[in-house]
Amino acid sequence: THFGFRDVPVAEKKKLVGEVFSSVARQYDLMNDLMSLGIHRVWKRYFVGTSGVKRGDRVLDLAGGTGDIAALLHERVGETGSVVLGDINAQMLGVGRDRLTDRGLVRGLEYVQLNAEALPFPDASFDLVTIAFGLRNVTDKAKALGEMHRVLRVGGRALVLEFSEVKPAWFRPVYDFHSFQVLPRLGKLFANDAGSYQYLAESIRKHPPQDELKAMMETAGFGRCDYRNLSAGICAIHSGYKL
Ligand code: SAM
Repeated sequence: THFGFRDVPVAEKKKLVGEVFSSVARQYDLMNDLMSLGIHRVWKRYFVGTSGVKRGDRVLDLAGGTGDIAALLHERVGETGSVVLGDINAQMLGVGRDRLTDRGLVRGLEYVQLNAEALPFPDASFDLVTIAFGLRNVTDKAKALGEMHRVLRVGGRALVLEFSEVKPAWFRPVYDFHSFQVLPRLGKLFANDAGSYQYLAESIRKHPPQDELKAMMETAGFGRCDYRNLSAGICAIHSGYKL
């Protein structure tokens, strides 16, 4: 497979991104733990913890994949609220639904196969829209941010958890070594797939850094935009309101 997405036409890129996530869907959770030494769980819990989500809220979790964020959100909105898990990839969505159903989480959860760039919901449908480790994979990020803004009610909030730009200079070589030497080897060893993890490291480097993403959110119409770095900027949480 060829992973040099920069030179690939958009339609084909979409197909390739789809293939990456089909091939990793089953090993996805194991790989997250291995690659981050389990820290992704802490980031996700913190992300949902700062969301301000309340009982009864209606939430959309985009690129929800295997359901980690949806499960944490569901704990907070309760059965009177609702969480819609949306993902473009049927396998990821299937793994997510099975995992949550096996944990007895059924009421208040919905699963929708969708493209974040064209959401199948009317305007002002949600109190909160989240996207965790997903915006990076979306081809037209401005369009996705615009759609997130559209489906929020006035006063609603969008939250983005994504890899970002590592801040301390001394940490960068360590991080690069982990990304380009360790990740593909872990991928080869545990998922028999070095290419997908090579793509992961590259997509992280190409994703807009903190201030650029904040500006993109402002352009999409969000107000009171802000971000917070996690783990020295390995990740950042961006927040914006529909005012
Ligand atoms: N949010 C989950 C988590 O944090 O564990 C899953 C993140 S996973 C790295 C990225 C997900 O984005 C995949 O499940 C993939 O199918 C989905 N995805 C990629 N492009 C998408 C798009 N345009 N619209 C919706 N989902 C998309």
